[in-house]
Amino acid sequence: MCGIFGISAKQNIVEDLFLGIFYLQHRGQKYCGISTSDLNSIKIRTHRGLVRATFTNDLGGLEGNMGIGHTSLKDRQPLKLDSKMGEFTICFEGNIVNVKELVTELKSQGHSFYTDSDVEVIAKLIAQGNGFVDGIEKMAAKLRGAYALVILARDKIFAARDKYAFRPMVIGRKDGAVAVASESCAFVNLGFEIERDVKPGEILEIDDSRYETKKILKADFTQYCAFEWIYTANVASTIDGLSVDIARRNMGAALAKRYPVEADIVAAVPNSGIGHAIGYSHESGIPYDNVFIKYDYASRSYTQPTQAERDREAKIKLIPVPAKIEGKRVIICDDSIVRGTQMKNDLVVKLKKNGVKEIHVRVACPLLKAPCLYGVATRSKSELAAHEKTVEQIRQYIGVDSLAFNTPEDLGKAIGRPLDQICYSCVSDEYRV
Ligand code: SF4
Repeated sequence: MCGIFGISAKQNIVEDLFLGIFYLQHRGQKYCGISTSDLNSIKIRTHRGLVRATFTNDLGGLEGNMGIGHTSLKDRQPLKLDSKMGEFTICFEGNIVNVKELVTELKSQGHSFYTDSDVEVIAKLIAQGNGFVDGIEKMAAKLRGAYALVILARDKIFAARDKYAFRPMVIGRKDGAVAVASESCAFVNLGFEIERDVKPGEILEIDDSRYETKKILKADFTQYCAFEWIYTANVASTIDGLSVDIARRNMGAALAKRYPVEADIVAAVPNSGIGHAIGYSHESGIPYDNVFIKYDYASRSYTQPTQAERDREAKIKLIPVPAKIEGKRVIICDDSIVRGTQMKNDLVVKLKKNGVKEIHVRVACPLLKAPCLYGVATRSKSELAAHEKTVEQIRQYIGVDSLAFNTPEDLGKAIGRPLDQICYSCVSDEYRV
């Protein structure tokens, strides 16, 4: 997962660009980067670490009136290339499924590679075009997978979203400035109005605080990533017309309707389980309360790149509230269960230590059965709890009184789209792209 942001304005944009990627920090915490243009030269700076920690006192020299930025848990971006179209920088979110074939083909044409990152492959494919729009179209014709990207040339920005719309991208506007971002939450505190989502397959040219659709690449179907609404996106964002908060409440309500249980409290695994738990509470009439508090200075455990880091972050991030647990029948709502080890070794242990009477777990995402091929950091099949385990076996493994997952059909209804318009390959184990 990554966050991308691009902005063009009549004035210096560096502060807005810095805040734009700061508000996309939840999409990647390991690296961040900024590239700007003042029409004379393209500047680039990347850091390992969080946006505020690394860039707050390091924006000097990056002044410009257009720029792009990136947050990532995988690699440093933007990447800079010199090409027949001139210098450009690029930020990318997604994943190339056929990357090996593309690298082999490019090497056979004489290309060498500096990194093993997908963004370098994409940049080299785009650089073969007759202009950036043609380059993006040619890249898209060869690529199997998912992408959202922004390119900064000396006097223009290009933004593009793949024709299946796996990864989100939205356009914002304010007086004298236009921007694109992975999520609308990046715009709100910067004073931008949300204009619209970038359409599936759309290629935009942005300059002089205006944007223009240059092309729309067509596909027979869409594959909006269901996981954006379940977990990835910020609850304040609206993705492709649907508020993440409302979608999560819908998922929680569906769980309450299909899997009711008597209890004293509905609680969340914070933060991403909160919307689901509120939805469950509203539908069931059982009061919502905090049983766990997420410590503000911990990171998102799911987005850590290695299992050791995920386990460590999961263990330290949640603090139980003893007064809400002792003698209570508790329904815990979570966004998803990956391996079940955090639930078993951390949450259930903390609840039992604090004298819980019953634990009922309700999970917004249907059983995860397969890895994501399209850019979300999920796990290999063998690491998933559903690998060779039934729901009843998972319940016994994590040691709770009841366990239930949304059905794919209820997930589609909660998102308000037919299942054939959304990607849920990590649930169905079927890949359409
Ligand atoms: S496989 Fe899952 S995480 Fe990946 S794009 Fe599809 S829904 Fe999203």
